[in-house]
Amino acid sequence: MSFIITEKRISKGGNLQKCEAVRAGKPSCANPKRLRKNPKTGILPGMNPPTPNGSDLCIPCGMCCDGSLFAHAVLRPGEEPFAESLGLRVVPTGASQPAFLLPCPLFQGACSRYDQPRPSVCGGFRCKLLVKYEQNALEKEAGLEVIRRARAMQATLGSLALPPAQLPLGLAEAKKQVHNLANVEARRAHLGFITLTAQYQMFLRKHFLWAPRKTQAKELPSMGENDTPAKE
Ligand code: SF4
Ligand code: SF4
Repeated sequence: MSFIITEKRISKGGNLQKCEAVRAGKPSCANPKRLRKNPKTGILPGMNPPTPNGSDLCIPCGMCCDGSLFAHAVLRPGEEPFAESLGLRVVPTGASQPAFLLPCPLFQGACSRYDQPRPSVCGGFRCKLLVKYEQNALEKEAGLEVIRRARAMQATLGSLALPPAQLPLGLAEAKKQVHNLANVEARRAHLGFITLTAQYQMFLRKHFLWAPRKTQAKELPSMGENDTPAKE
């Protein structure tokens, strides 16, 4: 009697071996119970998960480049001349670290220097969303949906902002506008804007922003290595 393989087998190297049913052109394995995928990751037992490409999220996102999340990006000491040579506006920050102002002039729908030398923060910063995606804890479509929701909230917030406001409206600018509503009447008149700013900030904190360190100015979150957990 010949032995028929009725399940997919996983080799030590993590590669799938096709069972005879599949080789014979049948639509599925005769014993699908043995091939149960991890319901969270959709990955078969023994298989290595695919390595996600962060560009899947960052290219359609750009929220840490266009001023949506941060008002400035921190430079490493000594990077100022290089940053200025790229046309970035270098400024000192409260923490006496050099930084360049956002929105970044090199952001044109996406980073125009993605594959060229950039300040170290550009390749080093990873928001919560990107870290989750790179750790295979988030599906690509779910990540893109978070970005779409953030952009939708931001657009609504921009439509309620007081002129003149630069669009897309950054979180720092929205908070500044709320802060400048000095009296009760002004606050009452812009209650929708105040409420949405609070919701938007919570959304960004949940999905994108790392908690500021004690040494960091709370009102102006910076984009820098200090904000970034160690890369695995
Ligand atoms: S690091 Fe985060 S905020 Fe920045 S572009 Fe990528 S997904 Fe967007
Ligand atoms: S150089 Fe590119 S990655 Fe860096 S802030 Fe500007 S647009 Fe973003």
